[in-house]
Amino acid sequence: MTDVIVVGGGIIGLTAAVRLRERGAEVTVWTADEPEQTVSSVAAAVWYPTRTEGDPRVLRWATDTYAEFRRQIDAGVPGTLLCPTRNLHRHRVTQLPWWAPAAGQVDLRDGTGPYANEVGFLAPVAEMGVYLRWLARQVKHVERRVIRRLDEVPAPVVVNATGLAAGRLCGDPAVRPARGHVVIVENPGLDESLRDSDDPAGVTYVHPRSRDVVLGGSFEVGRGDTDPDPAEAAAIVERCTRLVPRLTGAKVLADRIGLRPVRSGGPRVEREDAPGGRRIVHAYGHGGAGMTLSWGCADEVTRLALD
Ligand SMILES: Cc1cc2nc3c(=O)[nH]c(=O)nc-3n(C[C@H](O)[C@H](O)[C@H](O)COP(=O)(O)OP(=O)(O)OC[C@H]3O[C@@H](n4cnc5c(N)ncnc54)[C@H](O)[C@@H]3O)c2cc1C
Repeated sequence: MTDVIVVGGGIIGLTAAVRLRERGAEVTVWTADEPEQTVSSVAAAVWYPTRTEGDPRVLRWATDTYAEFRRQIDAGVPGTLLCPTRNLHRHRVTQLPWWAPAAGQVDLRDGTGPYANEVGFLAPVAEMGVYLRWLARQVKHVERRVIRRLDEVPAPVVVNATGLAAGRLCGDPAVRPARGHVVIVENPGLDESLRDSDDPAGVTYVHPRSRDVVLGGSFEVGRGDTDPDPAEAAAIVERCTRLVPRLTGAKVLADRIGLRPVRSGGPRVEREDAPGGRRIVHAYGHGGAGMTLSWGCADEVTRLALD
């Protein structure tokens, strides 16, 4: 018999399902979409708490996730890699960011050119196409199902990891989309990731992976369509090529748009005691940091579900 049904097969649902299984629960994941159609599959999936407010809870999730990815990278888990990264700042920052205690060795150094200084660290990266499939294999029981209401899910414990759809399923007005656009190009030999933290022309980052490079991006809070925008894609390539001239002429492999599930007040990871002794554990609203907070949240979901 299934003890827990996790609704949602993105990074949040799948990592929670893995942890629940490790604690001995019988777990089934229900997902409306195949892994490659989720928002999670669009993510650059570099460990970094983009536009996330730091509070002790978020710092703990970020810390635990960083440690878990470092462990998985050392163990050779498919789709994981470690990349040196530099966040470039046009306006001088005077202290390390709030998330620095989570990320091992983090250095604040002087910058060059238009950059006053930069923050450097080693960032775990998940190549989501491969990684989500690996997670799904660990879970074993993943079914395509669409729910209309949480109370129709027949299990004593239900995990609500439905990302943006949770806003509607729970009537939570704090959840909104934030459209994000990335362009994937061939890797001309880059092995360092760069982020221009305050590029006046727009969001600008370059994240090399094993075979390609993710160029970003955009972060449009409140925009909920995924319509293609070739002009925006061209502008992303142009900004990134200005940042890393070696990208000049790199072949474009794909162009992807996703809707981040942002939530004012931060992610909701919380237990609700429902009628009939059922438990619903909510885990949604991770905005631009779902990969970055995933394993820490999965630990918390597991405690809330089983303890
Ligand atoms: C361009 C872009 C770049 C990003 N880069 C990064 C990054 O570098 N680092 C980082 O940490 N984060 C990044 N993110 C953010 C990250 O992608 C999200 O925070 C994360 O994917 C949220 O995961 P999730 O599992 O909550 O949601 P999703 O991946 O959207 O999964 C939701 C799941 O719920 C299912 N579902 C929804 N409704 C129903 C229903 N009614 N019935 C059944 N199933 C349902 C869906 O089918 C899906 O399986 C990026 C996002 C974008 C768009």
